[in-house]
Amino acid sequence: MNIKIHRAKWVLVSQEKVMENGCVTVANGRITAIGRGGGTHLEGEVLDHGAGVIMPATINAHTHLELSLLKGRIPGKEDFLSWVKAIIHLKDCLTNKDIHQGLLSGANELYKYGAVLAGDHRSVSMQFPDTYWPVIIRFREYLRLEPAEILCDLNKDKYLSLAAHAPHTTAPELIKRMKDETKRHGRIFSVHLAESPEEAEFITTAKGKWAGLLNERGVKFSSWGLPAKSPVSYLDDMGVLDDKTLAVHLVQAGPGDLDLIAERGACVCLCPRSNNRLIEELPDIPAMLKRGIRPALGTDSLASVETLSLFDEMAFISESFPSLNSGDIISMATVNGAKALGMGEELGTLEPGKRAALLYLPVYTSSASMLIRSLAAGSFKGLPEVIR
Ligand SMILES: [Zn+2]
Repeated sequence: MNIKIHRAKWVLVSQEKVMENGCVTVANGRITAIGRGGGTHLEGEVLDHGAGVIMPATINAHTHLELSLLKGRIPGKEDFLSWVKAIIHLKDCLTNKDIHQGLLSGANELYKYGAVLAGDHRSVSMQFPDTYWPVIIRFREYLRLEPAEILCDLNKDKYLSLAAHAPHTTAPELIKRMKDETKRHGRIFSVHLAESPEEAEFITTAKGKWAGLLNERGVKFSSWGLPAKSPVSYLDDMGVLDDKTLAVHLVQAGPGDLDLIAERGACVCLCPRSNNRLIEELPDIPAMLKRGIRPALGTDSLASVETLSLFDEMAFISESFPSLNSGDIISMATVNGAKALGMGEELGTLEPGKRAALLYLPVYTSSASMLIRSLAAGSFKGLPEVIR
């Protein structure tokens, strides 16, 4: 049996537990033990990584890797609708080769920043070459204003699932059909929800800029059941919110909406850097935590953020919400993401039996509390190294 003992000055086992002079024993890709001490009494190859920290690898719960080649192509601040129109136009110009290249370079970037699992919305059924890491859950995303057939067989691949683009861009019949299909297969259903003011205006009034755009394009939405109280309650009325639905963004969500999300046990993924760039608003993270919601983090695509790094996302949250607990922020980028993507038993913390998805980071501190703060705030130099 191939046994390796990974040592470091610090081992971050989970948000609550940090071990000084810790070691993680790995056999055949699984963690078998975690303990203190030199490790010399143990059988196996001992690898001393240094004075930094070994921690669980990050989980990026929301990406659009197919848009990776659009990085830097939409300069400056635009309103949300102009951004959406620019994306649609630029995406139409991408060839299959561009998309494939985007998927590959995006996956490489995820790995470079220490993510071993991602939830990726994609509009193409293109197969991705199998890699050990990162594991990519492919949410085949449908953006259709009329009901349509789902041309995607979930039996083909255990890492395949479905996503509706958003309540204002996808016909309700199709949203319900997709949710039923994912439920039948025990998969996570992902959907952008309550992201922009334009979406909220359309859902709550059936009027506004988005309604104007639909009217211009001859799309009839009189049967959509609008206006509704809010985007969240609109999806809840469809019966779509449950513990296997991943609601992405939740910026336009008031106290009643967050109560509903908590009550249904729906999973949440936040992409604050993308929200800041596109709508200059942020989700109410303290209100979510207060209700027991444990949000995961995603980066969204390189069309709206500079990097696919969850360390950058954590640093942005630390700066924007200085009163948040650093351990809670680290949980968002690790264990919460693993649970949101249905892999909480396998990834997200360092525990015997879980997959050995470990990072080593050059974070040099003198105390466990300072270590957690430094990790959440990104106050260290260098990149995480995925330990193989
Ligand atoms: Zn997105």
